[in-house]
Amino acid sequence: MRWIHWLAIGALSLTLTACATSPTGRQQLTLVSDDQLNQMGAEAFEQYQQELPKADAASQRYAQCIADALIDALPAEQQRAQDWQIRVFESEQANAFALPGGYMGVNTGLLSIAETQGQLATVIGHEMGHVLARHANERVSTQTATQLGLSVLSSASGMQGPAGEQMMGALGLGAQFGVLLPFSRRHESEADVIGLRLMAEAGFDPRESVTLWENMQAAGGGAQPPTWMSTHPSQGQRMAGLQANMDDALERYEQARQAGRTPNCPRP
Ligand SMILES: [Zn+2]
Repeated sequence: MRWIHWLAIGALSLTLTACATSPTGRQQLTLVSDDQLNQMGAEAFEQYQQELPKADAASQRYAQCIADALIDALPAEQQRAQDWQIRVFESEQANAFALPGGYMGVNTGLLSIAETQGQLATVIGHEMGHVLARHANERVSTQTATQLGLSVLSSASGMQGPAGEQMMGALGLGAQFGVLLPFSRRHESEADVIGLRLMAEAGFDPRESVTLWENMQAAGGGAQPPTWMSTHPSQGQRMAGLQANMDDALERYEQARQAGRTPNCPRP
């Protein structure tokens, strides 16, 4: 993503200072207007579609079917708040992304690792989680705050104790390793939890999320890990996080099944 561009926009929007709460109840710094970010998301998505090779129609239909089931499970307000779109791109790299505005991409390389609809729903639900939790806004806002050396940094990053102070002392290094990296991992874990709930509410078996990560682990074991995975928490942390929320997810899953949510998206 073009953070430099985003930073410039972010700096212009500082008057819109706001503190928000994420879907899991975490305090967030959101300085940028969602409309601006969504507009940039739309433009970037347009560009990706022009530049990246499109996957075959069957793969696109498959991902669309799963995304539709997940979107249907959202409250009406959250359905309308984004221009939810998904595209499958032809690439061996096991990668997926989400842009503000609800624009998502999945590579065919990930489709071969995700062996079932539930496993792909894990990936798409995770990406939707980033959008629903406004992670892009928070990230741009934190980077903007770092860039401008604002005192909001310490409250925005949630840094506490000697480690945090040390990072504040070495802002440059802190900005690179101390603030952004753990922050981003926190986002990943949060997106996992939101995605897990969402897939369960859509009627996908939440236990498939753990299977996906086992498959990712197996696929990443040989050569270098897929990009999508390397910036994420370790699979061990990740699976522990999913397991910790599994009882709750299974309840939601049971309720969804009883309510007739039984998605059927055959893998091509
Ligand atoms: Zn992620």
